[in-house]
Amino acid sequence: MPTPHPDRIVIGAGFTGLLHAYLALSKGESVLVLEKADRGGGLIRSVPTEYGIVETAANGILNCRELELLSSKLGLDILVADPAAKRRFIFTRGKPRRIPLTFFEAVSLAYKAFTVPSKPLEGESVLHWGKRVLGESAAEKLLEPALGGIYAGDLDTMSAELVLGKFFQLNQPTWKNLKHYASENTSKPVKTRRGTVSFRGGIGSLVAALEARVKKEGKIKYEEEIGSLKQLRGKYPRAKITLATNLSSSLKLLRAEFSELKVYQGMLQTLPVVSVTRFGKDSILGTGKGFGILFPKDHKTYSSEMGIRVRGILFNNFIFPGRSVNGINSETYIYGGAGDREIATKSEAEIISIVEEDRKKIFPESSSPLNHYVTIWKDALPEYSPQLLSFNRDLDRILPEDLRVEGNFRYGIGLKSIIERAFAQHSL
Ligand SMILES: Cc1cc2nc3c(=O)[nH]c(=O)nc-3n(C[C@H](O)[C@H](O)[C@H](O)COP(=O)(O)OP(=O)(O)OC[C@H]3O[C@@H](n4cnc5c(N)ncnc54)[C@H](O)[C@@H]3O)c2cc1C
Repeated sequence: MPTPHPDRIVIGAGFTGLLHAYLALSKGESVLVLEKADRGGGLIRSVPTEYGIVETAANGILNCRELELLSSKLGLDILVADPAAKRRFIFTRGKPRRIPLTFFEAVSLAYKAFTVPSKPLEGESVLHWGKRVLGESAAEKLLEPALGGIYAGDLDTMSAELVLGKFFQLNQPTWKNLKHYASENTSKPVKTRRGTVSFRGGIGSLVAALEARVKKEGKIKYEEEIGSLKQLRGKYPRAKITLATNLSSSLKLLRAEFSELKVYQGMLQTLPVVSVTRFGKDSILGTGKGFGILFPKDHKTYSSEMGIRVRGILFNNFIFPGRSVNGINSETYIYGGAGDREIATKSEAEIISIVEEDRKKIFPESSSPLNHYVTIWKDALPEYSPQLLSFNRDLDRILPEDLRVEGNFRYGIGLKSIIERAFAQHSL
């Protein structure tokens, strides 16, 4: 039940804040969540439309033991990606290809995987790591589109320790590190379905279920923007605090409290991302099925082949059942990131015409769309830079027991990392 003197205050009712609030409540704490907006969920929203569901941010979650536990506690059924949609493509040499490397490049990658030590070096960029450990071609054609698609960052300014450190812990070649990582994760007792998962009504169903529980067992106050941790402590002197906002807000609140964090002002960047869901009658893949296409970018010019601007396309109705009405294809186009900040300054109409131009370059027979749903996030994702790594290390060092700082800038950008960290902190 809500109390006037909660044990814990959570700032931010995005996915991170709601999850931490829910876990604290399930351990018997009384919790008050304070959210700036008039609704919860933060970046995440699953919008039902005439032609199908539109996700404003995350489309899927990499499954893990903790998500299986959470879903079963919330009474939600996990929706597994359709095995027929497993095929992932990379756009090279004029078309989407499953294996973008030539025979010799593939042989060279295999040789390096068995011989080159893959633990990231101190201060090494992801681009440097990729060229050293995988080779130039694999770094450009595999690593760049894959990580660019997740982090929206420039590989040359991303920290290899921060992004790859947990997968490559041993000073051993790639295959040994991947085996080690897999063995650490399979020793967990709960049966975990593999791959990307979601829920029937979209990722928003998970957020809605968390929000409903937190409202029932604790309290959420909307339209409550926190401007100072000191003032909050004055009002709730006995409460522990979980700060679960985006990077910019967290830094602003923490800088005023901890003088050693002032240096990070202007050093930590966030990246804009634009997501467009397009409904139409034809599919880029013709009669085939697949998960999505990634587009390698040159890390200096940020251009990809044929002047295509999109970073990645997801085939929503192939991945999860029920994502669009019968006979309609739903594709999500992701733009922006380090190389294309400009896209977030454009109007919806301009963005839609960029989507249609890109689609025609990839699929010249492209027919007219039925509808588009555009979401523009101006500072959606943190840049996973070496400065962000040292910010995280400073937080680990200086935060007092009664203050936690969580979010997509704490050692993992995706929902899987946020869930795993939250469960570990609550010792579940
Ligand atoms: C286009 C896109 C696609 C993505 N796709 C995937 C995907 O497929 N899989 C995946 O795992 N991840 C994906 N992500 C990442 C994932 O969606 C985010 O990392 C995650 O939703 C972040 O949640 P959060 O709660 O930490 O932050 P947010 O969602 O930003 O929530 C922070 C909350 O804090 C509130 N707040 C801020 N300041 C204050 C204040 N001062 N006082 C009170 N409240 C405040 C905000 O209003 C907001 O509600 C994607 C992200 C984007 C943008």
